[in-house]
Amino acid sequence: MIIAVDGPSAAGKGTLARGLAQHFGYHFLDTGALYRMVGLKMLRAGADFSEAVRAAQIAQELDVNEFEDADLRTEAVGAAASRVAVIPEVRSALLQFQREFAKREPGAVLDGRDIGTVICPHADFKFFVTASAKARSLRRFKELLGLGIPVTLEGVTADIIARDARDASRATAPTKAADDAIVVDTTLMTAAEALKFALAAIETSTK
Ligand code: C5P
Repeated sequence: MIIAVDGPSAAGKGTLARGLAQHFGYHFLDTGALYRMVGLKMLRAGADFSEAVRAAQIAQELDVNEFEDADLRTEAVGAAASRVAVIPEVRSALLQFQREFAKREPGAVLDGRDIGTVICPHADFKFFVTASAKARSLRRFKELLGLGIPVTLEGVTADIIARDARDASRATAPTKAADDAIVVDTTLMTAAEALKFALAAIETSTK
């Protein structure tokens, strides 16, 4: 069983994906963390984002045990992630790991931008989670403050708009709802309501 959860930044896809994984007892993969890790390593190495070969090599050598790095959630690393995510060689270096993860039994929930379109086009269920830009900025702002990261709402809003524009317009695997994805607009929903909505959609289509 594979559940794909895609959508723009801070729409609530991570929360929904984790909730679905917990509900069904499935494995969960935050695929954004893979790109964030590559972005973070490029930043730390002082590398230029146009160095595609270097970025692809970092992607190939990723160690999933490093994923607890405290800097991973910052917006600077989110922006770096979206810079390396446009590089086709980086995406192909990370593809196999994600596809293998998706095969885990009894099931897996993956959240990202291209899970339903590229990584797992045959996923059993696909959700595209979205929300207004204002709601997403406010959420990310609160989330970062909660992590003790000093930010301003204006700064977070500008970062999110720039990052989503880059993610949606890139040539390889842009953020896009699969034709068969169920759209979940969380602008006016709590996390619990979004989960309830998704579970109801799964139940309805399995009847
Ligand atoms: O989901 P998160 O905000 O952590 O992702 C960070 C960045 O990684 C995104 O802005 C996007 O550029 C990239 N990404 C991607 N494909 C995925 C997941 C994330 O390109 N499946």
